[in-house]
Order: sequence, then C-alpha cells, then structure tokens
Amino acid sequence: MTNKFRFMQIAPVLAAFMAALVSCSGDAEMEKEKLSIVVTIPPQAYFVEKIAGEKADISIILSGGKDPHFFEFSTREISQILSADIYFSIGLPQEAALVARLSASSGTLRIVDTGEDIPRRLPDAPFLANSGNSDTLPPADEENTDPHIWLSPALVKLQAQKIIDTLIVADPKNASYYISRHALFITEIDNLDREIQRQLSVVKEKTLLVYHPAFGYFADQYGFTQIPVEIEGKEPAARSLSILIETARRKRIRTLFVEPQTPQKKAQIIASSIGAEIMQIDPLARNWTETLLDFAKKIGGRKTE
Ligand SMILES: [Zn+2]
Repeated sequence: MTNKFRFMQIAPVLAAFMAALVSCSGDAEMEKEKLSIVVTIPPQAYFVEKIAGEKADISIILSGGKDPHFFEFSTREISQILSADIYFSIGLPQEAALVARLSASSGTLRIVDTGEDIPRRLPDAPFLANSGNSDTLPPADEENTDPHIWLSPALVKLQAQKIIDTLIVADPKNASYYISRHALFITEIDNLDREIQRQLSVVKEKTLLVYHPAFGYFADQYGFTQIPVEIEGKEPAARSLSILIETARRKRIRTLFVEPQTPQKKAQIIASSIGAEIMQIDPLARNWTETLLDFAKKIGGRKTE
C-alpha cells in the first residue's frame, strides 16, 4: 500500500520528466538535422540563406566589417570550419591556403569554392599607363586578380548554382525544398538585374569613381568603367592621384563612392579636390539585393554638373 501510494505520487513526476526528456532529444534531433554551414563573407550568408532557408545554421568568418583582403584565419575560426558540414569559400587567396591545409584533416566537412568556375578579371588602374608613374601593378597571376565576384548579379547566379548543387548532395532528402527556394532566388536576381538596368539606363557618363575597386564585375556587367583611388589596397602615389583627379574633372565625375572601411578623411580630400560629393556603399553588407539596388539608384542619382 505504502509502495503503491509512493508510486502514484511519483508517477506523474516521472511522466513529466520522461516527456521532457523526449522533447529534449526531439529538439536535439531537429538541431542535428540542420546543416551547419560556414561562409567567408556576409553576402555569401545571404545567398546560402536564400536557398537553404531554415534547414541550415549559417556562420560567417568575416562579420563586422573585417577586411577580406587582409585577414588571417584564427585558430577558433579554423575549428569552426572543421566542425561544420559545409564550408563555402569564395576564392580568396587566404582560403586557398587554408583549404590546402584542411583537406588532409577535414573528415566529413565538404569544402566548396562557389567561385570555382568564374573567370577572374584583372584589377583596374587605367591611369597607370601614363609615364612617370611610381605605382606599378603586381604581375597578374591568380593571387592578383579581382576577387569581388559577389557584386555582379550574373556571377551570383553561378555561385547560387554551386550552392544548390552542394546542398542537394549533402542533404538529398530536402532536395525539393532547396530547388524551389533556389528558383525563387533566381527570380529575385532577375528582378534585381532588370531594376538595376532600369536605374542605369538614364546614366550617360559610364564611369564609376570608387575609392576601393570592388565594383569591377558590376561595371563589366552593366557597361561601366571603374576608376579606383586605391591600387592593390594601397594609397596611390602623388602622380597617380593627380592623373586620377584630372581624369575625374575632365569627365565631370561628381561622385566618389566610398565604403564604411574607407579612410574617410582621405576620401574627403580627394572628393573636394574634384568637387565631388561622397556616397557610401558597403560591398560586404549581408543584405545583398538591397545593397546593389541602392548602389544602382545612387549611380542613377549622381550629380552630373
Ligand atoms: Zn574589396
């Protein structure tokens, strides 16, 4: 009797405890079912999220404005990549060095370079052709090509294809989910492309004066030329700078595009010597579609006189 009484008291507690256990392990299962994906830069997180939706947890190596040109992977970031299901790199030289080191010890990690099949352009520095210039471009080998392949809608379609191909292989049971989200993302890119074309159709001066040369692929796609202040991430020599300023004046360019990472004071000095206004654009912003649309609108709304 006593035992039975005790059991009756304990039973509901036990039942609740068991239920909690079941729901915990249920949650853990759900968590485990999500792919763990690491990307290098924030716009890649946007692309992956568009396709993988709620089926993936995405983490970004270079968040918070860290410079993709000058960074090194920390030990913590390397172990973060090693414990993921998929690492989407984008073809930066630092990634290539890391991937070479990781492939021996990567276990179940899939490493996919989303920029693998994309031909790279050379960096822009049109005014370097002038004589008497102390700036030189390094030889155009793989390490010195333009890495900003995420800023052209046409090239992002190719990157999206790599992403969906990888997701389907890594997680075939959710293939139809990924396929339908990928189709929506392609529609989003097509709409963006049309809207950018519409914004740019009114622009007569097809030159973009930019502090950092991030928009070469964008310029190529929409028939523009990019004139950068920086050369290979460095300040230009005085001679280059004066040629740049002359060129901008002659072409009546009245806008200098800078990034949040740009040395604002230096940009201000150059802008005022041309009589240009400064407009900001963040090529590393996660919200990629909004960023490119904003860029096109700013180009369309530039002062021309
Ligand atoms: Zn850059």
